[in-house]
Amino acid sequence: MKGKFPVERFQTLRTPFYYYDTELLRQTLKAINDEISRHEGWHMHYAVKANANPKVLQIIRQAGLGADCVSGGEIEACTRAGFPGSKMVYAGVGKSDWEINLGLDRDIFCFNVESIPELEVINELAKAKGKVARVAFRLNPNVGAHTHANITTGLAENKFGIAMRDMVPVIEHAHQLSNVQVVGLHFHIGSQILDMGDFQALCNRINELQDELERHRISVEHINVGGGLGIDYSHPNRVPIPDFKAYFDTYAKKLRLRPGQTLHFELGRAVVAQCGSLITRTLYIKEGAVKKFAIVDAGFTDLIRPALYQAYHKIENITSDEPIDTYDVVGPICESTDVFAKQIDLNGCRRGDLLAIRSAGAYGEIMASQYNCRQLPVGYTSDD
Ligand SMILES: *Cc1c(COP(=O)(O)O)cnc(C)c1O
Repeated sequence: MKGKFPVERFQTLRTPFYYYDTELLRQTLKAINDEISRHEGWHMHYAVKANANPKVLQIIRQAGLGADCVSGGEIEACTRAGFPGSKMVYAGVGKSDWEINLGLDRDIFCFNVESIPELEVINELAKAKGKVARVAFRLNPNVGAHTHANITTGLAENKFGIAMRDMVPVIEHAHQLSNVQVVGLHFHIGSQILDMGDFQALCNRINELQDELERHRISVEHINVGGGLGIDYSHPNRVPIPDFKAYFDTYAKKLRLRPGQTLHFELGRAVVAQCGSLITRTLYIKEGAVKKFAIVDAGFTDLIRPALYQAYHKIENITSDEPIDTYDVVGPICESTDVFAKQIDLNGCRRGDLLAIRSAGAYGEIMASQYNCRQLPVGYTSDD
């Protein structure tokens, strides 16, 4: 089965471009809200770094989600999309002063703090503005996510977060500072996680840490478990919406929240990946010595995941019903890594055929670059 695309409309658009199915996005958001709303005090902050297309952000804001930002630019993009500061959280190991000041000016819900020097700078900048910044400490839980090494973040060797053994002293230190208020703990163990056991391991770790806090008579209002839920890149048509029930049930069953504590999530990929496709035009079919190449007009400047993470994206020829043939689908960029897929089956390709590179709504358009002086791809939606 192929995805359904408005091919006639596509023929009028300059390729390559991103196409977002807003109906699927809305269904996905509804599936999330249906699960979240069954639990008192649960909140979802969309991880903006997955996709900051203004139309996508607006639909997510309309669905009532908050925003998880990792830069001042993302805080600005969310402000433009209408997110109130009270629904923004801000994480990142290297927040610069202007970014912290922007967060303070927007009165964001919480800074997720990753080191003591950062805590002190936030305290100073808040003091200069006569404000008190809400902070949560991002702890490194040393829980391994069984995913690609470049997208694990919760191991002791990663740069993210504060070591667990420093948790109590750091919180006690923060209590001495006049212009920060400790409101929570924050975690994020990695991305494209499909094994619920990884999230269970995180829950167990948080339970231990909360027990330790209790022994020190410290309590926090908010627990933020980050994001990381993966999607089915192999079957975008059969599994367009991730298994949110299994994901949220894991937390409902395994995490021991204290009375009155709220639970925050920061999903990115699982919200937007399946609703986006990169649409590209076949330029040439080249018969190599040992294989056939479909050379397309998109490159890793438009979608870097295959080159960066050896990621698999399903590809479909959406303008051909010709018998299946086998191709390497490659881009025009002068790098050997500019390959979208090797030895895949496609309906027979000719010059001019449109290919859809599926499941590209997350970490696609937002990671585009202008290498080789290429234009950035445009993002269209099914609403336009
Ligand atoms: C990237 C990131 C997320 C979202 O990760 P996904 O795998 O897209 O769900 C959430 N929280 C933080 C702090 C992140 O850096």
